[in-house]
Amino acid sequence: MNLVHWLVTLKCNHNCYYCFFKLKPDNNKILSNDAIVDFWNNTNKIWDFKLTGGEPFLYPDFIDLCGKLTQSNHTIFIDTNLSLSLDELHKFIQKVSTDKVGLILASMNNKNEQDIEPFIEKARLLMEKGYRFDSTYVLHPLRYDKVDETTAILNRNNIPLTVQRFLGKYGGKEYPTCYDKEILEKYFPEGLKDNCFNPKEKSAVCGAGYNYVYVNPDYEIYSCMPYSNKKENKIGDISLNKIKLGTGYKQCNLNTSCPCLNMLVCADIIKL
Ligand code: SF4
Ligand code: SF4
Repeated sequence: MNLVHWLVTLKCNHNCYYCFFKLKPDNNKILSNDAIVDFWNNTNKIWDFKLTGGEPFLYPDFIDLCGKLTQSNHTIFIDTNLSLSLDELHKFIQKVSTDKVGLILASMNNKNEQDIEPFIEKARLLMEKGYRFDSTYVLHPLRYDKVDETTAILNRNNIPLTVQRFLGKYGGKEYPTCYDKEILEKYFPEGLKDNCFNPKEKSAVCGAGYNYVYVNPDYEIYSCMPYSNKKENKIGDISLNKIKLGTGYKQCNLNTSCPCLNMLVCADIIKL
């Protein structure tokens, strides 16, 4: 597996209070979709693209980009708030073959929860057309009283929902490490087993920079997101048509837990 985790835009039309990112209005520059797809094709690898944001469907010509990546045999995974219109969704269905979509992961956030019918309609359409679909529910402490009802509504419509841990601070506590035992037992039993909820004791060996790269909204390429905080860690740039991939798995030098564990990629890129 070769994985590109690409934060295509920091723009978002929702405003979740538990949002992980500091969202901003626009990308600094926009490259043509053809140039982007040629760039990845020239690496001579087939990539799985985890396309996220912000809201990736707000990136200019995003549906065309998805079409071109998948027509070049790459696979895409999309993290979305599913706010695109039904018309746009039909365009997506026309352009992007189901067998090249690993997963569409839609966030059941507060805004969708308040107006749930359009979310259900779009989710059902995607599933009826054969796309792999899941929805996520970030369990912020302020949402404890809503999660079960929303889960039940989606389940009645045969729409899957995965409860996700909240990463951040609330009420002077740090999450997910500060969830109460009852919440862990009910929603995250794996969190009781001292895995990704706690900092790892030893650093991991992983494929970051080799079979896994992170791309920021300015098309700069880093081995992974935690290493993207320093320009000297840059290993490529799509706008400069440059990338220098590593030759194998390496020891991670971070002593904190790997934040990438939250991106559902750890099983494939990290050998603990
Ligand atoms: S939909 Fe996602 S990116 Fe947008 S504000 Fe909510 S959590 Fe942040
Ligand atoms: S373990 Fe995580 S933080 Fe460390 S190099 Fe790998 S992906 Fe990056």
